[in-house]
Amino acid sequence: MLDKVLIANRGEIALRILRACKELDIKTVAVHSKIDADLKHVKLADEAVCIGPNPSPQSYLNVPALISAMEITGAQGVHPGYGFLAENADFAEQVENSGFVFIGPTADVIRVMGDKVAAIKAMKAAGVPTVPGSDGPLSTDPKELKATALKIGYPVIIKAAAGGGGRGMRVVENEQSLINSVAITKTEAAAAFGDGTVYMEKFLQNPRHVEVQVLSDGQGHAIHLGDRDCSLQRRHQKVIEEAPAPGIPEEARQAVFESCVNACIQINYRGAGTFEFLYEDGNFYFIEMNTRVQVEHPVSEMITGVDIVKEQLLIASGHELSFKQEQIIFRGHSFECRINAEDPVTFMPQPGTINAYHAPGGNGVRVDSHIYNGYRVPPNYDSLIGKIITYGRDRDSALSRMRNALDEMVIDGIKTNIDLHADLVRDEAFKKGGVNIHYLEKKLGL
Ligand code: ADP
Repeated sequence: MLDKVLIANRGEIALRILRACKELDIKTVAVHSKIDADLKHVKLADEAVCIGPNPSPQSYLNVPALISAMEITGAQGVHPGYGFLAENADFAEQVENSGFVFIGPTADVIRVMGDKVAAIKAMKAAGVPTVPGSDGPLSTDPKELKATALKIGYPVIIKAAAGGGGRGMRVVENEQSLINSVAITKTEAAAAFGDGTVYMEKFLQNPRHVEVQVLSDGQGHAIHLGDRDCSLQRRHQKVIEEAPAPGIPEEARQAVFESCVNACIQINYRGAGTFEFLYEDGNFYFIEMNTRVQVEHPVSEMITGVDIVKEQLLIASGHELSFKQEQIIFRGHSFECRINAEDPVTFMPQPGTINAYHAPGGNGVRVDSHIYNGYRVPPNYDSLIGKIITYGRDRDSALSRMRNALDEMVIDGIKTNIDLHADLVRDEAFKKGGVNIHYLEKKLGL
């Protein structure tokens, strides 16, 4: 078993990882930027190292500082959380080349999944359903481009192979704007990601975002922990997630679960991962794989009883999976609301000091958050300050618990999106379940 783990992250996920380490009697090393010295997990960790100034390139993305911190503290492994270096293949490689354990997949697998063209190719070969598309990078030949788009059928979407975070995409409605749109997306992709490779997909008009959580030990065993619906998004950022995804025919779900598990075995995947799909008219279309723990992992934990972060630590320690598929029992329903420090109207981040905080509680309510009375939300990082997760034996009871929890929660001193959530959980279409990825933006009038 890993004896000491360095947590290369901050905020709620750093605390989440620390808690899992403690349960497994793994010693913890927190690293932090100057302004983050008062983070809750920094106080609770066995050791803490300041790795640099506030801007993340100089701290949380500072690979030499992180490796030195591992050397100095004698940490054996590093958990990257999500964001920052979590899907950086070069970091994973440097960690392993320096003799440490990267708690995640191998650098090769991260690299393939980070290149969407390569990822789609690998997944298609493994039998995962994908979006009809160009099956590879686009050429610059106008004739070929037109033929490809015609074959797929308009509207199409041009996407950067190296894209991420909802950037590097452009919808094309008809042939008139095709050539120009491909050229612009290529230029933008080259500037933003250092790689101008683009590909083409059918643009699905009203899909839902449904994803599948997997665990795989890299020793021939893989399981799924069911699906999550993350369709409630603003600017491609998820706002509320739930598990299971409501109203999907059982046969279609089981088929997609099986294809994901098979794909994990075929690519010898190691660790926790998520297959992201668009879902429309009974069909699943793979869009990308996230090779890390996700913000919304708790909803899957609630309905399966599996601790995903603990499993990551066990797999990284060389253990086989703790569960067989038939031991995973799906029970009840779970929601997660992402609480952000942001202006409810402009959605601009709202740093500042929290001068009163009351967390909600009660049966079936979980709060994953690093904030406390007097905590100062710094301006330098993501605005996520916590997550409320509720569980109920059915969707309605999980949702009514979320309503209560949101009404109970008090965060004073900074603006948050609690009221937006309180409004959303009372929305008739959301209450019914199965809204598509455009629903929230339309509701907000964006
Ligand atoms: P990123 O890595 O930037 O998040 P994704 O490939 O996951 O990129 O796509 C992000 C979002 O863009 C999706 O959740 C969806 O809203 C939209 N999108 C991507 N591909 C398509 C498509 N083929 N049809 C319709 N919408 C799409």
